[in-house]
Amino acid sequence: MQADFVIIGSGSAGSAMAYRLSEDGKHSVIVIEAGGSDIGPFIQMPGALAWPMSMKRYNWGYLSEPEPNLDNRRITAPRGKVLGGSSSINGLVYVRGHAEDYNRWEELGASGWAYADVLPYFKRMETSQGGEVGWRGTDGPLHVRRGPVTNPLFHAFIKAGNQAGFETTDDYNGSKQEGFGLMEQTIHNGRRWSAANAYLRPAMKRKNVEVVYGFANRVVIENGRAVGVEISRRGKTEVIRANREVIVAASSFNSPKLLMLSGIGPAEHLKEMGIEVKVDRPGVGANLQDHMEFYFQQVSTKPVSLYSWLPWFWQGVAGAQWLMTKGGLGASNQFEACAFLRSAPGVKQPDIQFHFLPVAISYDGKAAAKSHGFQVHVGYNLSKSRGNVTLRSSDPKDDPVIRFNYMSHPEDWEKFRHCVRLTREIFAQKAFDDYRGPEIQPGEAVQSDAEIDAFLRQHLESAYHPCGTCRMGRADDPMTVVDPECRVIGVEGLRVADSSIFPHVTYGNLNGPSIMTGEKAADHILGKTPLPRSNQEPWINPRAEISDR
Ligand SMILES: Cc1cc2nc3c(=O)[nH]c(=O)nc-3n(C[C@H](O)[C@H](O)[C@H](O)COP(=O)(O)OP(=O)(O)OC[C@H]3O[C@@H](n4cnc5c(N)ncnc54)[C@H](O)[C@@H]3O)c2cc1C
Repeated sequence: MQADFVIIGSGSAGSAMAYRLSEDGKHSVIVIEAGGSDIGPFIQMPGALAWPMSMKRYNWGYLSEPEPNLDNRRITAPRGKVLGGSSSINGLVYVRGHAEDYNRWEELGASGWAYADVLPYFKRMETSQGGEVGWRGTDGPLHVRRGPVTNPLFHAFIKAGNQAGFETTDDYNGSKQEGFGLMEQTIHNGRRWSAANAYLRPAMKRKNVEVVYGFANRVVIENGRAVGVEISRRGKTEVIRANREVIVAASSFNSPKLLMLSGIGPAEHLKEMGIEVKVDRPGVGANLQDHMEFYFQQVSTKPVSLYSWLPWFWQGVAGAQWLMTKGGLGASNQFEACAFLRSAPGVKQPDIQFHFLPVAISYDGKAAAKSHGFQVHVGYNLSKSRGNVTLRSSDPKDDPVIRFNYMSHPEDWEKFRHCVRLTREIFAQKAFDDYRGPEIQPGEAVQSDAEIDAFLRQHLESAYHPCGTCRMGRADDPMTVVDPECRVIGVEGLRVADSSIFPHVTYGNLNGPSIMTGEKAADHILGKTPLPRSNQEPWINPRAEISDR
């Protein structure tokens, strides 16, 4: 088997690349995917989002090593293992990130990836419903919308933010990210609009695109050039040849793992694993970043939350309604209101993110409060803690070793304590007077720094945004893995393009930025001139220096 471009991974970035690389019909593309089909209501029904992330069939199911700053807990680190990758098991929240995120990428050496450069790609990829005119895409493959916002708790949350003196925003993916507002979702016609539905399925209708279901073991490198990919499928090992290039898009745990198994990585570590060193790149697997969050939960004194829908019978009713009409509760992820706030005066861009949910429940749906309630998933998003991904052995079937090193920077503790106190301030506003019952979690007794820290050590979770492990940057920076055209330094014909190349985590959820990375990488791979830079200036809070609001 052979193709001009062989892509490993059909996820957010891989699907976008398959679509763009095959668009003009001149090149053949093979996408290798270790997971299986994404068909069925668990993935396609937005309201079922807690299911696929808990199912072994769709999830690589990784766990971190014991995290020393979190009472040695091993933290769940899900990744999609299915057509569409993590975009098929994620929470369907859509956030582009703040303009400053991309300006920071450029400062870190990713030239050509500043906000002015990436904004045209965000527009190219989107069809936005209800977004700010002039700032949003109108005819891209990725449909983005707002929820129906029928639950009064969403409105109470936005009003409470306003009462506490914070900004509101009509479109946090437009000119102004900061403030409270309606959250956006990758949902179209009531279905999850994963990268597979948006990009890969339309691409698969073309004669020049093929998906091969198989497990990529390593990239085959001959005389300094990537010439193909060794895969296992149906008990056999075979090589898929690339006439032009191999592109790794296996995400932040498996992309560095694949490079290391192919002999590209920190020489000492590869030797320890008994792998022949082809290129000594110490940055492979380093620079692991993520977002953490905890759930702040409150009892609702009015029976308006989704608690009534949690019994199996009512879940069945919602499921049946969705199957018949693609409408009802099943057609939303229920993240319909949110906030992007700055943690302190002097902070230029928002760094604390809130997802509001009109029910008190864990992300994976396994632990629900025993009453009506509401919650925010809240977290500080610009942590300076860094971890790494290494190999467990030279066996491709072994899980990678993931050490996040969460909360290893002292600032993280200060910021997360602030998240607890700030949420209390918001939930204490008048807008919640009709709904506010006792605090479920952290609980009113958790007040001092020491008490909050103990709570955080037990309750912080990953927000599932790992990135940065094949960092993009200047070719002369020893910790860089790919140059700004996504080419792996030291090997010909090999690129990495997915969330692993982010030099720095963006502020907000990572599906949008990962798709954008695939969109832009495709232009580099095809040797096209990048889209013209934008001259639109994002809103920066004029009070940023003196106030947090
Ligand atoms: C549970 C969960 C909830 C999330 N919620 C949100 C959200 O609400 N909003 C948001 O914006 N982001 C969310 N994210 C994050 C976001 O979805 C990811 O950051 C993004 O999809 C990553 O894209 P990617 O292209 O880097 O990789 P992925 O989309 O993960 O794609 C990688 C693909 O490579 C395949 N692959 C890996 N190794 C191999 C191999 N050896 N051989 C063959 N194939 C291989 C995988 O199976 C997968 O299909 C969530 C993530 C998770 C896991």
